[in-house]
Amino acid sequence: MAFDLAVWLDERRQAGLYRQRKTVESPQGPEVVVDGKPFLAFCSNDYLGLANHPDIVASFRQATDDCGLGSGASHLVLGHSRAHHQLEEALAEFTGRDRALLFANGYMANLGVISALLGKQDAVFQDRLNHASLLDAGQLCGARSQRYQHNDVDNLRRRLDKSDGRRKMIVTDGVFSMDGDIAPVTALAELASQHQGWLMVDDAHGFGCLGNIGGGVAELYHLDQQQLPVLIGTLGKAFGTYGAFVAGSDALIETLIQFARTYIYTTALPPAVASATLTSLSLLRHEHWRRTHLQDLIHYFRTGCAQLGLPLLPSSTPIQPLLVGDASQTVSISQVLYDHGIMVTPIRPPTVPKGTARLRITFSAAHQRHHLDRLLDALSLPSVACWFRGDDNGVKL
Ligand SMILES: *Cc1c(COP(=O)(O)O)cnc(C)c1O
Repeated sequence: MAFDLAVWLDERRQAGLYRQRKTVESPQGPEVVVDGKPFLAFCSNDYLGLANHPDIVASFRQATDDCGLGSGASHLVLGHSRAHHQLEEALAEFTGRDRALLFANGYMANLGVISALLGKQDAVFQDRLNHASLLDAGQLCGARSQRYQHNDVDNLRRRLDKSDGRRKMIVTDGVFSMDGDIAPVTALAELASQHQGWLMVDDAHGFGCLGNIGGGVAELYHLDQQQLPVLIGTLGKAFGTYGAFVAGSDALIETLIQFARTYIYTTALPPAVASATLTSLSLLRHEHWRRTHLQDLIHYFRTGCAQLGLPLLPSSTPIQPLLVGDASQTVSISQVLYDHGIMVTPIRPPTVPKGTARLRITFSAAHQRHHLDRLLDALSLPSVACWFRGDDNGVKL
């Protein structure tokens, strides 16, 4: 065969980049059953511990009793239900925007929004560590796409100064998905306004975790609809359900309904997912203790890692990556932890830049300190600690 897939796959394996799935046989939570065995897990994005919350599950059940399961059609045909509409109104109020629009998921929201707003004569400026869905959207929309240095406002300013794009859009993760750090959104909003451009923030990992009511970076930095006109949230992470939304002005939402192809040409979410998410939104807003508890866990873990001399990346969010550098070594460490009943996913290129493979440790409000003690114990095992000790692993922080 001219194009041998087996050879290609083998190269992938040799490079330590081969990806494999594990089968989960329990609900999400700190303790999960995977391939028949119990594990302590530190790799979900269920930051508030809502993915298996009884009230949310009960809302879902009630809604399927009332409305059945499938939405049956796209939003513009016959799929836009009362539950979807109520959730959109609640999300608009929650984010302090005119309106919100539901999408099937975050990937599709990003593709749909960027390609609805930008075309060939335009310019899109992306942080180089943005999520894959944003980078893909930048390619798809046909605009001139640039990646600026991570969180580097000066680098971005120079690029904006040189650009002659018709429309200019700055696009960034709110909380970076593989690093856990936060974008300098206030400075980005100022730059956008100085250049008559738009700022778009994908806050998939900030919603629920940051702000007094879990409103993410927009709430934390008090950015209103003028300063931050395109705000994306996903529902599969801290909300514990599924789907995504865009929040912004009435004109933005109407534009997306007309032009966002990933909104128009796809089936609406099951309405019961929207009903369940309404309950989840209420818990996310009102149960502030979940955020306080998360902060306590983060502090506890960072203190423990500092005592062990482990190279944690600087992060104040539930994403606490331990930098390893080499992809194969990262897989080996993850395997040792796995053999000790602890699940932490190795994150390798191309998800992160070459030479910055890492263990992406994430916490949930459902974790307790004793869970973290087990993780810290495992990280101090000689067979794990040796990878981090002494000699420079070749990676600059
Ligand atoms: C997870 C994630 C997405 C994709 O959202 P899905 O709803 O899972 O498709 C988009 N952007 C960021 C920053 C993410 O972390």
